[in-house]
Amino acid sequence: MAGEPQSDCLFCKIVAGEIPATVVRKTERTLAFRDIAPKAPTHVLVIPHVHYPNAAALAAAEPEIAGELLAEAGRVAEDEGIRDYRLIFNTGAGAGQTIFHAHVHVLGGIPMNERMV
Ligand code: 5GP
Ligand code: ZN
Repeated sequence: MAGEPQSDCLFCKIVAGEIPATVVRKTERTLAFRDIAPKAPTHVLVIPHVHYPNAAALAAAEPEIAGELLAEAGRVAEDEGIRDYRLIFNTGAGAGQTIFHAHVHVLGGIPMNERMV
């Protein structure tokens, strides 16, 4: 069924607590944790508990949760004390997506004007 946990999904395992992560925020429907290979001083991933392959699929099926994901990304930035930050949704392997469970990258803590990622 749509949104059900997938046994081969790393982020579903993090949601289930089967794989450890440095969690910075948790709500009933979302989880925010530090990226294992940070690309900036702040690099946090915000994911829904439910499994969808990417953010657009999540937004199409469960728009409320997609909205929560964005609100949580803003709260992460606030908690981290960063005013300027970048949200990235890689979609598809050709765009750099490696984990096919919807997530948004929250990146900040250094000037990003000249950076693509
Ligand atoms: P994507 O490339 O799919 O947009 O982003 C996946 C992100 O997940 C990458 O930035 C990668 O570093 C991160 N990642 C991969 N495996 C783990 C893990 O086991 N724990 C954490 N915290 N992050 C991970
Ligand atoms: Zn998943």
